[in-house]
Amino acid sequence: MYEALYRKYRPKTFDEVVGQEYITETLKNQVRTGRLSHAYLFIGTRGTGKTTCARILAKAVNCEHPVDGNPCNECASCRGIESGSVMDVVELDAASNNGVDDVRMLREEAIFSPTTVRKRVYIIDEVHMLSKPAFNALLKILEEPPQHLMFILATTELNKVLPTILSRCQRHSFRRLDSETIARRLAWVAGQEGIGLEEDAARLLGRMADGGMRDGLSLLDQCASRETVTVETVMHSMGLAGATRTLSLVSSAADGDVSSALEQYEALWQDGKEPAGLLGELSSLFRDVLLLRLAPENGRNLISGAYGEESLRSVPLSSSEIIRCLNIIQKYQASMVTAASPRLQGELCMIELCSRPGPAETPVAAAPAPGKPEKHPAPAPVRHAPPASPLSAEVAPAPPAEKAAPEPENPVPEPEKPVPVPAPEPSPSAPEDDAAWQAILDDLSGKIIFGTYILMTDPGNVTGALVGNELILRVRPGFETAMITTADNINKIRQSACAVTGKAVTVRVEELTPKPASVNEDKLAQLGQFGNVTIR
Ligand SMILES: [Zn+2]
Repeated sequence: MYEALYRKYRPKTFDEVVGQEYITETLKNQVRTGRLSHAYLFIGTRGTGKTTCARILAKAVNCEHPVDGNPCNECASCRGIESGSVMDVVELDAASNNGVDDVRMLREEAIFSPTTVRKRVYIIDEVHMLSKPAFNALLKILEEPPQHLMFILATTELNKVLPTILSRCQRHSFRRLDSETIARRLAWVAGQEGIGLEEDAARLLGRMADGGMRDGLSLLDQCASRETVTVETVMHSMGLAGATRTLSLVSSAADGDVSSALEQYEALWQDGKEPAGLLGELSSLFRDVLLLRLAPENGRNLISGAYGEESLRSVPLSSSEIIRCLNIIQKYQASMVTAASPRLQGELCMIELCSRPGPAETPVAAAPAPGKPEKHPAPAPVRHAPPASPLSAEVAPAPPAEKAAPEPENPVPEPEKPVPVPAPEPSPSAPEDDAAWQAILDDLSGKIIFGTYILMTDPGNVTGALVGNELILRVRPGFETAMITTADNINKIRQSACAVTGKAVTVRVEELTPKPASVNEDKLAQLGQFGNVTIR
């Protein structure tokens, strides 16, 4: 019978456990010195080795000839526990035995001395799933446990475990394993099994395991049925779109090309790709782009590596646009869990990714794309004008301020609605103003939190104009405003403005552009236009 890799390569001693040295050394030491606790609580995400360590500990405390705190795995106790024939070591899954009756029964049998081994050990997995009465029943035994009893509780959700239980247990937190550690282990296992595994594929699997060795090995199992496992094999087995198609989707989103994005999404759907997986891939791509830009030094170690750096740098979206996209994707990832139609959620997500919040978006990045010279103060050409935003593109040059403007008043009549003045267009005195703002920005570098500073350097988010002794900041509505216009930041901006100009400058904040009108109606209309969806 085929044995799953994660079972076959499950560590049998503390020394074989990968990546949790701090815990395994402590436990080994306790076994060696006999200074054991009667109750342990192992905390950590799935697949990080909690149950494995619990089993090793159960064997080690009962082993007839422990080796440096490790179980020998050869004596009768070790073998009996390993095979499950020793009835004194009991594993319970609280997810399926969460009733008070189960715990009462456990309590009744717990008082008897073990029959074949020294200590009766209860391993209770997912202990947070116990009902409250069951918790309380458990607490009773934990309060005054007989000498022969040991509890090893494991949980993925510490916050759901009663404090009274916590205080009676010795706690150990299992770390999420880093992807390199998992990749190395997978490569080793593949070698043992005669599975051809390319280095890149091992890395990809390591990342997909998301910190859990068990998941990593299960993924390897899933991919290993064919010849050599390559990145393509992994993508195919996991139903992932892969770098090329994900990048192509992002490119359509950047162009605001809804119809192309929806067509690609439909093709991926037809190929059997899961919407949730697809959003995960998009999210990972955007995250990589952002990391590479905002932390060029160390970001390289943090990026997933599924996409070449060249491709990541070519994504024509500003950092703040990418943050916006990430927020959109997260929103749909959350709603997808409960949605009746994940497919529709995916389509709505594509549409929202293609929409632009305002006309003044500029594809400015920390590293501007070559061949696209950026003239800092000039507003970018409108890439995609949302139909529901009539105010967007054709706005006449506006006066930089309503009062105390030294330049001649522009004879454009003010619109009736209290719509804020949109992005500044080049006007005779603009270069001077913008030069001052640029100097202020330079001065602010290092004084404002880096992420916020990056947002501020993007004229799609904020422009500054010095008019007399007043610095007018025009900030795009949305979360950027909230991030940029904190009292602390405004104060720093004012100080820099004073330092740069040598004058007492005040700061006034205005909205850069109006918010887009009714996104939902827009979305539904666009969905309706797209052939395969019917909206009633
Ligand atoms: Zn033994």
